[in-house]
Parts: sequence; structure tokens; C-alpha cells
Amino acid sequence: MTRSIRPLVAGNWKMNGLKADLAIATEVARGYDASLKAAVDLAICPPSTLLFTATAALIGSRIATGGQDCSVQPAGAFTGEVSAAMLADAGASFCIVGHSERRTLHGEDNATIRAKAEAARKALLVPIICVGETQGEREAGKALAVVRRQLKGSVPEGLDAASLVIAYEPVWAIGTGLTPTAADVAEMHAAIRSDLARIVGKNAAAGVRLLYGGSVKPSNAAELMNVANVDGALVGGASLKAEEFLAIARACA
Ligand code: PEP
Repeated sequence: MTRSIRPLVAGNWKMNGLKADLAIATEVARGYDASLKAAVDLAICPPSTLLFTATAALIGSRIATGGQDCSVQPAGAFTGEVSAAMLADAGASFCIVGHSERRTLHGEDNATIRAKAEAARKALLVPIICVGETQGEREAGKALAVVRRQLKGSVPEGLDAASLVIAYEPVWAIGTGLTPTAADVAEMHAAIRSDLARIVGKNAAAGVRLLYGGSVKPSNAAELMNVANVDGALVGGASLKAEEFLAIARACA
């Protein structure tokens, strides 16, 4: 953790969740007690169909909501797309962009992700920009180079610390139960912080929240969250269980 940075734990529900599952969000809100509120920010990124109702259900809880992706376009004839302004209108404060499932399954490249991050900022959303290497890239000793290239290509210049979140998510750790060693996470997060200084400036980079994501669970959260330059977590599977999500938040606090 970075002492001067308030941590963020964000839940990525992915393509999971019907109206009945909003009970998960309200259970998280019930467990987000005064001591947790004093120590850690929480956000839930449900599918966009639930964003409006999730935001309404969380009013008064101080838990933010976010989208999982946004269009690079502001509006118009783009069937099936959801604009950043629509997410903001539905109550979102954050928007995940560049998740590895978007990069891999939808062929999104760094330029597209940067455009999405810029679209998010125009709508006053805070982009959570995801970066991370594949297993093959790590085994080939290219993890640092890959992530540095992703950062350079997908992070817009000139953002301040409050307008940007970076999530380091090794692709091979997402949904697999595998996690990198604390030393590998420390090395990567230090490199991200130092490269960010060249993109957004030294002062902003020092305050940007750098999340770790990939198989974060209550059992490994404390170790991962104690790594230098890890300022919270992006949580997939465990964010669908209120008690697990809260336990991860407690590990950050
Ligand atoms: C994710 O999809 O962003 C993620 C981190 O998933 P999981 O926690 O399930 O590995």
C-alpha cells in the first residue's frame, strides 16, 4: 500500500447479475461499516443493464458504481454500444477500460483503449485502465516490456491523480486461482508508477491508485495488498459474494 493514497476495491461483475443479484450490492453496503468507510473506497461495476438500479440501491452507502466498458463514440448509429455519457447518466463514477477480456475477445488495441479512457474522462468518469501480460509473455521474460507498452499506448496524457486508476491484471491470473509472487507484483507496480510519471507527470503519478487484479480472494488479499505501490484491488469472481468482497476490503483497511 501507499500510505498517502486512499485504497480502492472495485468489483467487476462481468456478464453476471440479474435484478435479484442487487441483493449482493445491498449486502456489501450493509457491511461497509464506519471503520471500513474510514479506510477504503468501494466500487461495484455491474453489467450496464443494472447500473441505474444498482446506483439507486447504493444511494447513501458511499459505494460508487462503474461501467465495465464504454464506446469510443459519444452517440449515434452504433447499435449495441453504450456511451460513457450514458454510463454517467445511469449513475456511474468509474469505467473499466481495456480489460483483458476486451483486449482478447474483442481485439481492442492500446489506441482504442486510450480513446475509451478519453471518452470516459469527457463524461467525467474515472477510467480504470487495465494492463497485464499473458502467461507466454511472462514465461518469455517480456512481462515488464508488455505492460510498459500497454501503459504508454493506452493512458491519456495530462490526467490528474483523481482522474485515473490503473489495474495491473496478469491475464494468466484472471479467474484461474493463480497469482504472481509478491515480489513480481512489487516489481510491476513500481515500474507502472515510474512510467506513469512520464505520461501524467511526477506529482499525478505519485497519487494514482494502482490496483492489483487477478484471483484476489480473502485468503490472499492481505499479502497482495501489503505490497508496495498496491493501492487496492480489482476483483472479479469474489466480488459476486458480498462476504468475500468485504473481506478483501478489510484486508485493504
Ligand atoms: C477481473 O476479471 O478483473 C478479475 C480480476 O477476475 P478474478 O478476480 O475472477 O480473477
